[in-house]
Amino acid sequence: MTQSTSPFEYAPAPESTGIVDIRSSYGLFIDGEFVDGNGAAFKTINPATEETLAEVSEANAADVDAAVKAARRAHTRVWSKMSGQERAKYLYRIARIIQERGREIAVLESIDNGKPIRESRDVDVPTAAAYFFYYAGWADKLEYSGYGSTSLGVAGQIIPWNFPLLMLAWKIAPALACGNTVVLKPAETTPLTALLFAEICQQADLPPGVVNIITGAGETGQSLVEHPGIDKVAFTGSTGVGKSIARAIAGTEKRATLELGGKAANIVFEDAPIDQAIEGIVNGIFFNQGHVCCAGSRLLVQESINDEVLDRLKRRMSTLRLGDPLDKNTDIGAINSSAQLTRIRELSDIGESEGAGRWSPDCELPDRGFWFPPTVFTGVTQAHRIAREEIFGPVLSVLTFRTPAEAIAKANNTPYGLSAGVWTDKGSRILQMANELRAGVVWANTFNKFDPTSPFGGYKESGYGREGGRHGLAAYLKGGK
Ligand code: NDP
Repeated sequence: MTQSTSPFEYAPAPESTGIVDIRSSYGLFIDGEFVDGNGAAFKTINPATEETLAEVSEANAADVDAAVKAARRAHTRVWSKMSGQERAKYLYRIARIIQERGREIAVLESIDNGKPIRESRDVDVPTAAAYFFYYAGWADKLEYSGYGSTSLGVAGQIIPWNFPLLMLAWKIAPALACGNTVVLKPAETTPLTALLFAEICQQADLPPGVVNIITGAGETGQSLVEHPGIDKVAFTGSTGVGKSIARAIAGTEKRATLELGGKAANIVFEDAPIDQAIEGIVNGIFFNQGHVCCAGSRLLVQESINDEVLDRLKRRMSTLRLGDPLDKNTDIGAINSSAQLTRIRELSDIGESEGAGRWSPDCELPDRGFWFPPTVFTGVTQAHRIAREEIFGPVLSVLTFRTPAEAIAKANNTPYGLSAGVWTDKGSRILQMANELRAGVVWANTFNKFDPTSPFGGYKESGYGREGGRHGLAAYLKGGK
């Protein structure tokens, strides 16, 4: 299951699943209760084993309508009238319950998503709790935000499958802090932690209707976007769906924030601390199987150190352990779905047929489930599709540059503009690059760092609006844009 090239073998260290109680079927969470949906049901599976985990309701237009109406009632009668201080108490309570039930949530996330337990335990769950803590702190200080303190109303929120609970926290925490109520649709392949979050809302005694969770596929999302009763759409996902949402709400009063795709440049200068840069490159593209919108999927290396960086990178990639997501030794888990695996395979094959050099370490893939080995493409040029399109998998494209101006030109030569990384020992160069890179987030001598106090969002086809920090409040207050 794991790779054989490491000098010694690790004993398996699987996390127990005993702590998680998955029901055989789930209804929709509307008005504070789980109710049967009017539509069909669909299965959610464990992508590491292809076993069915549960049956989940597919919300149809009538269900969406019921959820939006419940959210509206809760907004008008309860939540918008409550003081910020009182709302904060609920958010703090939710944050603490996420911490208390952290192990259970992490195991469930890894089972439903395929991500390594180390990542769900050490990144997703603590960061989700941190967003609730952070925005709880804002709830009674909104008049100091610069955007007033008047909520928008009902927010329709649609999230992807790569960070299911964390994306839920990014969306729900600021919305609730600002006095809005929400209807949230998780992704079809990863509904289980959102449904567990519904239980957490019950446990926290959150007033009914403040949070509604409706499961389903794209059509459910579309019904939510088009429902006349919502005041705002918050979406994270593909650029294609983002554009269709922008078209659907054009001409209405609905506000929107769109967090879409990316093709980030991770730029390594010859004066960079190479060992740290190698770790940053690995973290940038192989964290979460590369299912990260801000992944450092384009490595730009200064030509003078290209050979050295590639040698060291390949050596490091040979030590990555792929396999059981619940094993604490695992670095690379399962690809989230068979559809995503097909997309990664197709784009990688295109990279090879267009002439780039493909390399993966010796890596035994499990027989069942969806897996893709960590892969690097060398000799990539700007014209290659693997340098332009978001692969959303553990696939790195390596390009070279000679001067800072060339690095900036290549980094910005993309329809996206979500994130970038710079590796150098010169502070002045970091500042110059940060000024000239057209990316919403620029990391210096690090990568993939997320903090609730820091705004996150993109330029160009990476979307608009910011989530996180004080800026994230603007999206949920009348005085924001
Ligand atoms: P989508 O954009 O299709 O999915 C994101 C969310 O939107 C899901 O909840 C999805 O539901 C929902 N949705 C789908 N269609 C509509 C619609 N017409 N109206 C409203 N909501 C809708 O992404 P995919 O999951 O299909 O992934 C495809 C590609 O998108 C990936 O290969 C990757 O490149 C990119 N992607 C980028 C992400 C990012 O964070 N930037 C996140 C995920 C994907 P459902 O899951 O049920 O279809």
